[in-house]
Amino acid sequence: MNPSERRRPTRQVLVGGVPIGGGAPVVVQSMTNTNTRDWRATVDQIKRLEDGGCEIVRVAVPDETAVEQLPSIRKAIRIPLVADIHFDHRLALGALRAGVDGLRLNPGNIGGPDKVRKVVKMARERAVPIRIGVNGGSLEKDLLARYGHPTPEAMVESALRHIRILEDLDFNLIKVSLKSSDVLHTIASYRLLSNKVDYPLHLGVTEAGTLVAGAVKSALGIGMLLFEGIGDTIRVSLTKDPEEEIPVAYGILRSLKLRERGVELVSCPTCGRTEIDLIGLAEKVERLLRRVRTPLRVAVMGCVVNGPGEAREADVGIAGGRGSGLLFRKGGRIEKVPEAELIPRLLAEVERITGEKIPDAQCSSQ
Ligand code: SF4
Repeated sequence: MNPSERRRPTRQVLVGGVPIGGGAPVVVQSMTNTNTRDWRATVDQIKRLEDGGCEIVRVAVPDETAVEQLPSIRKAIRIPLVADIHFDHRLALGALRAGVDGLRLNPGNIGGPDKVRKVVKMARERAVPIRIGVNGGSLEKDLLARYGHPTPEAMVESALRHIRILEDLDFNLIKVSLKSSDVLHTIASYRLLSNKVDYPLHLGVTEAGTLVAGAVKSALGIGMLLFEGIGDTIRVSLTKDPEEEIPVAYGILRSLKLRERGVELVSCPTCGRTEIDLIGLAEKVERLLRRVRTPLRVAVMGCVVNGPGEAREADVGIAGGRGSGLLFRKGGRIEKVPEAELIPRLLAEVERITGEKIPDAQCSSQ
């Protein structure tokens, strides 16, 4: 059975105009790593994230100066904005007044019932959802003492405490995440929680690492849960520019047939038959096609003998030879092209098929 057919039913919340849960497509989100007090740098980064396919963005709101930037940021971007708040309920109130579309805060950590009540009242008036974000590294001391470690049971108990605080105030615009840097703990925690509540779940493996390590951990942790039907929105965390997170996120969703967006690059591992710089070509094609939105399979193969056949399912592709290569479509030859012209011809073909303009296509032969 396809993972899209066994998604667990959850309630739906709206973050800005974006539905999460309740059968909506799994939403891709990210978080800026600019200084939120520098609204221009933050907006620039969010625009790059938007272009890459990010659908919701979160910014850290560490102080009042950051709160003051939120209206300018909100106004300049197209996707919903979530404010990430720790400990200070005044920052949450300020963020709500500034027009954010979501809050990430843990109600048990913002200073007592009166303060929580004020935040919840304003969030309800503005129909702004709150994500409870339990993190293995910052679990309550009493839970750590009782369980010894941030075990899945301790994580879930922490989440249920925070959920109860909101439910007692009759607030149910809730999403929950249970992030741990341990993949198996992450999976076990979400499984446990998804059997207890039907709030939409935000999946992620935290402190996952740099590009390769982080992509592997995220693909396993997020991917296994999605495969089981658990999860409504995902964030891939990398020690990298957040723009790098988006292709990884879509790669996970595409592999599970949950979302179709952009280019799936099919490239061969190279072998003794390869006579061109295929690794360089594949990396260049991947970079140039990163902003394409139309679902498309593009192949970059090492030889004309096996390449087109091996990439029969590709919508379009190139197969390298010596000093020249073949442009092919669905396994069939279109034409033979000099090596220097391979990428420009491929890009032109992608533009023709998708109807999208590829920003750097003109300088791609350099
Ligand atoms: Fe080798 Fe050609 Fe297959 Fe690439 S496509 S791995 S070069 S046989």
